[in-house]
Amino acid sequence: MNNLSSMDAPFILQGATRTLDSHHGPHGHARKNNWRRMTLVSTILAISVVASVSNASAPTLTPRGTMHASSVEDLEKITSWASPLDPNRFNPYTGSLLAPLMIPRVSGTANNTLVQQFILDHFAALNQTSPGDGSAPVDDSGDNSQKKKRSKHGWHVEQDRFEEMTPYGMKTFTNLIFTKNPKATNRLVFAAHFDSKYFPPPNAPFSPNGALDRMGQRLRGNGGDDTLPFTAGTDSAVPCAILLDLAASLDQALEDQMWANTNRAAQAGWEEDEETTLQFVFFDGEEAFVDWTATDSLYGSRHLAELWAKRTVPKVRLATGRNGGSTSNNLEGIELFVLLDLLGVENPRIPSYFGTTQWAHRHILSIEERLWQSKLHGTQLLANKQRRALLQAQNVEERAGEEEEDEMDRLEEEAIEIETPLHAYLTEDAAYGGVDDDHRPFLHKGVPILHIIPTPFPHVWHTLQDDAKAIKPEVVEGWTNIFRVFTAEYLQLLHPRTRQNPRHDEL
Ligand SMILES: [Zn+2]
Repeated sequence: MNNLSSMDAPFILQGATRTLDSHHGPHGHARKNNWRRMTLVSTILAISVVASVSNASAPTLTPRGTMHASSVEDLEKITSWASPLDPNRFNPYTGSLLAPLMIPRVSGTANNTLVQQFILDHFAALNQTSPGDGSAPVDDSGDNSQKKKRSKHGWHVEQDRFEEMTPYGMKTFTNLIFTKNPKATNRLVFAAHFDSKYFPPPNAPFSPNGALDRMGQRLRGNGGDDTLPFTAGTDSAVPCAILLDLAASLDQALEDQMWANTNRAAQAGWEEDEETTLQFVFFDGEEAFVDWTATDSLYGSRHLAELWAKRTVPKVRLATGRNGGSTSNNLEGIELFVLLDLLGVENPRIPSYFGTTQWAHRHILSIEERLWQSKLHGTQLLANKQRRALLQAQNVEERAGEEEEDEMDRLEEEAIEIETPLHAYLTEDAAYGGVDDDHRPFLHKGVPILHIIPTPFPHVWHTLQDDAKAIKPEVVEGWTNIFRVFTAEYLQLLHPRTRQNPRHDEL
């Protein structure tokens, strides 16, 4: 992604078309200017935030209806949906969901294909797991004999493969899309890019196709597997690992909901029940090969947005959520497009980028507060881990076991007492001057965007230090807790609708 930071146009309006500024760095004059503007905005916003902090469980009004906060018990249930996931899964060196992504994976290279296969295998494994063997909620509506017979809906897989010209010649790109219920007309989408940026070795031979960069310099390197060893942990291995975790941890609850809906539709005499489903998009080719321009960047997202704009699908009737017999394009059913980028380091600071999705930003902020109260926030998980490490360094583990446990408990309490910001990742600020990223082709076609990217960028951004050392697994765990709860609450996974409990818009 790239900061949009030209002096002449510091404001990005939703849906506005503009020429990209090619300045390739997070720090500029415009940014400072924006900070000043932000101060004023945050002062105004602070007034309403006081109310939201004191009322983190208040329902949120969304374009889809009312979104309720989970109970503390539900919150703990959702965040403990780990099986069959490895507790060490976000370790950047060995973790099952993260380590396989931590390789240079420039678009068009063999490594990029390896990472695609890893992602495909993850969903294939979910499709093979038989229902009921996860620790996710058990469907207790309906009788058991029926439950045993049911087969898995699984995840629908779409591979959007195409070729496009780059400064290094023609390259192949592949977007991967996984949809829980491909028949559903509406979707909650989570997206991240899986490619990594190409950095030519300084003394590499000149590019065989003789291309020039913007300054008229001949390009070095082959634009592929001779790249410097940039493993791009935050950019965006960690966001991809979070998406994989969401799919695995929510899978059982999604299956149960689909069965509950099928039964409900049958009772009501409908042919099938159209619902909002969950979809994951893994973009290829987000990074520029040379300089960030309108043509050298966002290869995958530009292609997919065009593809979906042309695709005709049954249109949802908003009043009932069911097919009204007419058609629309495949973008119109996206209720919310959540794009994750540059996550995994401590202390991110994420403002609200778009007014139309401020409800979602605020709701996630309220989830952070509730997780904090349940001691499940990433900042707390990390503080506790650091304290434990400190204790071990002081040889406290040599003391009697019981005493040690007491000491651990006391220190954990202390960690929580010391830092009580409640929400630590999202801020109440509204951002002016957007960050260019994979959401843009969708934004310009009218899709509501929630952009989860820190401002300013992590200090390791686009350096070789954006590697395993920069990643804090506890921070990643904190993020996945947040998005699990958001998805469960948005899709009403814990308390599926029944005929006695209709959706708000059916009343
Ligand atoms: Zn990048």
